[in-house]
Amino acid sequence: MSRSVLVTGGNRGIGLAIARAFEEAGDKVAVTYRSGEPPEGLFGVRCDVTDTASVEAAFEEVKAQQGAVQVLVANAGTTRDNLFLAMPEKDFADVIDTNLMGTVRAVRCAVTDMVKARWGRIILVGSTTAFWGSPGVTNYSASKAALAGFARSLAWELGSRKITVNVVMPGLIETDMVAGLSDQHRSYLHSITALRRSGTPEEVAPAVRFLAGDEASFITGALLPISGGSGLGY
Ligand code: NDP
Repeated sequence: MSRSVLVTGGNRGIGLAIARAFEEAGDKVAVTYRSGEPPEGLFGVRCDVTDTASVEAAFEEVKAQQGAVQVLVANAGTTRDNLFLAMPEKDFADVIDTNLMGTVRAVRCAVTDMVKARWGRIILVGSTTAFWGSPGVTNYSASKAALAGFARSLAWELGSRKITVNVVMPGLIETDMVAGLSDQHRSYLHSITALRRSGTPEEVAPAVRFLAGDEASFITGALLPISGGSGLGY
């Protein structure tokens, strides 16, 4: 069955790999992008998740193009790393606004049609850093930890309508987001990963596709680490 899928921040990195995985499975896939061009072969809608009107307009465009969103992958995310003592309040708030509130805005737009259809799949992209902690990312960790509480409560609210809500939690995945890590820090992160390496976006995507499928019909409120064994234990 071909479903209407929307991946926020699906123009590059992990989001793009997720979008391609759904495309390969034969789904109708839309991605959001903020600037430039959408990826080849995918339906792109311009959207900034910090802007409610922009998110609402994106969902309307997607609905007109491929039908109401049945599978939402809330992937768009950002960082503003700094030690907490040196972090301007705005950098804390901006990360919360994108990673937490941006997700909330997208989910708000998705759920009405999912409830009407009495079926839906919501997958949030969290991070192992949410529970593991790491210096310099208090804003990011707080935003990603909040997704877990959001997802688990929402799973209760929507479960009777056959809508599942799950969180995937990548570890270190090689994308633009982590391109600036020093070799030393990267080696350290590998040393505390059971598989002793970084992951790729293509190693995250299949798990997201699984959670969106019929085979995952009894999985909701779950936090799934995709981390090579780093940051476990929550
Ligand atoms: P990238 O930096 O490669 O991609 C980030 C994506 O988010 C881009 O598509 C970007 O769009 C989009 N985005 C950022 N801010 C906004 C916004 N305000 N509105 C709309 N889109 C926005 O990072 P990754 O692919 O690595 O990250 C994807 C997700 O995975 C994020 O949520 C991240 O936190 C999470 N993650 C990443 C890990 C890693 O090691 N890479 C580890 C754990 C979690 P644009 O191109 O327009 O900037």
